[in-house]
Order: sequence, then structure tokens, then C-alpha cells
Amino acid sequence: MKDVNAQINQYKCPYCGANMVFDAQSGNLFCPHCESQIELERDKNVKERDFSDFTKTENAWDKEKVHSYKCINCGSQTVMDKSAIAATCPFCGSAVVVDSSALVSVRPDTVIPFEVDNDTAVASLLKWRKKRLLAPNSFQKMVKVDEIKGVYHPMWTFDGYTTTHYRGRLGKTRTRTVTHNGKTHTQTYIDWFNVSGTRKNVFDDVLISASQTINQKSLDKLQPFEQSKYCVYSDQYLAGYIASNYTVAPETAFELAKDKMKAVIQNEIMRHHNADKVDYLHLDMHFDGKSFKYLMLPIYVTATKFKQKVYNQFVSGVVSQKGKKSQIKVVGKSPLSPIKVTLLSIGIAIGVGILGWLMYMAGFFA
Ligand SMILES: [Zn+2]
Ligand SMILES: [Zn+2]
Repeated sequence: MKDVNAQINQYKCPYCGANMVFDAQSGNLFCPHCESQIELERDKNVKERDFSDFTKTENAWDKEKVHSYKCINCGSQTVMDKSAIAATCPFCGSAVVVDSSALVSVRPDTVIPFEVDNDTAVASLLKWRKKRLLAPNSFQKMVKVDEIKGVYHPMWTFDGYTTTHYRGRLGKTRTRTVTHNGKTHTQTYIDWFNVSGTRKNVFDDVLISASQTINQKSLDKLQPFEQSKYCVYSDQYLAGYIASNYTVAPETAFELAKDKMKAVIQNEIMRHHNADKVDYLHLDMHFDGKSFKYLMLPIYVTATKFKQKVYNQFVSGVVSQKGKKSQIKVVGKSPLSPIKVTLLSIGIAIGVGILGWLMYMAGFFA
């Protein structure tokens, strides 16, 4: 299997001429041959994009620098350095990837560069796999060289200033004491009232996934990807990594973001009126300003094949804090070992048998 890293010649080492790759640990370009580094200055001046200029040609991937691929098997669309050759699809492990550079696609403007290197990701993955007690031994003990790849996952993030006019009928659950035939008891009832008003909101970074190659549930579990780690995208961060292209159009994502915003506004209105029930509530939301970013999140992806089925596991490319401990999050599916599952069911059957015998001896069925 070809090593993607070895195929890159876009960033030649100035000392020895070998191909440099982005080094997650230092955040610099690194020469695997002579071990020299070139410092990458991080541009933290992340800008928001306006909707109108999104599809302008200057925002497209530079075809001189990158290649696009499409997987015939699972449909994933990826972008790599021009000289990197897609050997297998990172999501399904299939070798049927075709060049799709004819499709012009928009280049990301914001990125969280990988800060977890490949070896550390593999170590975290193995730790996670060891805990999958019913998984096959081979799965628990090793990660194959071509099984894990660093992939930038695309996200749309929306900002907006909104003004919302609302009217509706809300309710508050209350209790009262009533006396009936000389007896008092407590009754709950809903106190309904009409509401109307205007609210102004500021939304910062409403995240919507731009591709289904990693499902929303897994993305939620891999959070957080902190805003403080955002940088201006540069192709150098791609050296040695793969970027997934967006397949969810920004307009579609914006509708989903609006739903998220409306849910926030509705909660605020409920709190404001001290209500816990909704009969109806009409929200008329206007944008006084809106912008978005096209963001790439660093995630290691595995495509583990077991008995003709593919199991994906995802390892976060950033370190997060859990209390005082730092951690690297891992989520995913693991195959089941038929032998272990059989042994477990035999074990359970024997256990149930023994329990039944003990109960019989103790006279439970007498
Ligand atoms: Zn070198
Ligand atoms: Zn695929």
C-alpha cells in the first residue's frame, strides 16, 4: 500500500529536498528525512464570509495544488495534495477512488490543525479497543498501517444577528387547592395566556456538519472543538492529511442552523414569560446580519474490515480537558468475535442453569 505522506512533493525540504509533511505535535512542517522543521506561522485572524461571495471562483480549491477524489463505493469526496495519490477511501477502505477534479469545489477558510499525531491517535485507539471485550483479539491488539487516516471533516458555522417578532399562547402549570364535598385536595391546571413581543439575539458559531461521512452522533461525542483553536486555512495543513469535501450545500445547512437558532429563541421566550407549555408560538425571525465560515475539524478515521463489513472508529485530532486530565476522545463501532459471543452465551446459559439448580435446592419451586 502506498504511503500518502511519501507522495507529497509540494513542500520540499530546503535542506535535503525531501517532501515535508505537517507535523501535528509541533504544528510545523517537518522533514521525515533530515528531521528539520519549518515553523508555520498561525494566522488567527479568522474572517467570516458573506453569503453573496461564497461561490466566487477565488474561493475554490486551487487546482494547481490539490486533487479531488470520489469513492465509487461509499460516495465520499476527498481532497489531497496534488502529488498525493488516493490509495484507498478513508471511510470504507475501498480501492475504487476516482479522480473528480473536474468538480469545482469551495476551499475551506478556517481550520483546526491536527494537534494529535498519528502514533498518539493509534495509542488512544488501541486503549479504546482493549475495552471492547467482545471484539476479536486481532481488533483489540493492533491497528493496521493503512487502517487509520487523518481527515479534515467539513463543517458550516453560522453567525447571525436576528430580530424576532413573536406572538402566541403559552401556559404555566399551577396547582390549587379545591374543596369538594367537605374534602380538600390539590389540583394541577394550566394557566394559559397570550404573549407577543420582539427579541434580539446574537448567534456565534452555530455548527452544522457539511458531510455525512461522519454521522452527527459521533461528531457530538467528539466535541469540543474549541473556537480558540481556529486558524485561517492554508494548504500546508493538508500536507500528509486528507480533507473531506462538503456534500451538504451551505443553503441547506443554513436552514438547519435557523432551526437551531429558533429553538434557542423559543426557549428564551418561554423563560422570559415563565411558561412551561406551548399552545402555539409564531416566530418571525429576520437577519440584521449574517455570515458563515467553512471550517475543517481534525479527526482520525478508521475503516476496519471484518467479515465483509466495515466498522468506522473516529479519534479526535485535538486534546480536550476532562477536569484536570487531558484526553483524546474516541468513538465508533467495533466488530463482534463470534467465538467470544458464543462463549458468553454458553457462560450465561451455565450461570442460569446453576442459578435454577440453586433455587430448586433452596425450595423455590416447591
Ligand atoms: Zn530534509
Ligand atoms: Zn468509500
